[in-house]
Amino acid sequence: MVEHFLQCIYCWSEISMLFDSSVTYQVYVEDCEVCCNPIEVNPVFDNGELISLECKNLGNYSAITTLKKNKQNVLENIQNAF
Ligand SMILES: [Zn+2]
Repeated sequence: MVEHFLQCIYCWSEISMLFDSSVTYQVYVEDCEVCCNPIEVNPVFDNGELISLECKNLGNYSAITTLKKNKQNVLENIQNAF
C-alpha cells in the first residue's frame, strides 16, 4: 500500500489516502476524513509507482484534480525494469 496526500475537492483540506500499488488501474469511492463527502478516486500505477491520480466530485463532476507524471520519466522507468 502507498500513502498519498491530496486535497479534498469539497473542503480543500489536505487528506491522506492509501492505495494498493499492485493494482494498475482502479476506481473507487472514498469519504473525505474531514468533511465526510464521497470522492471518486482513480489512481493509476506503473510498476508500483503512482503515475496518475484523478479525484472527482461525485455530485456534479465540477471539481476534478489530476496528477500526472511526465511521460519521459515513465518511459525511463519501464526501460530500467527490463
Ligand atoms: Zn473534505
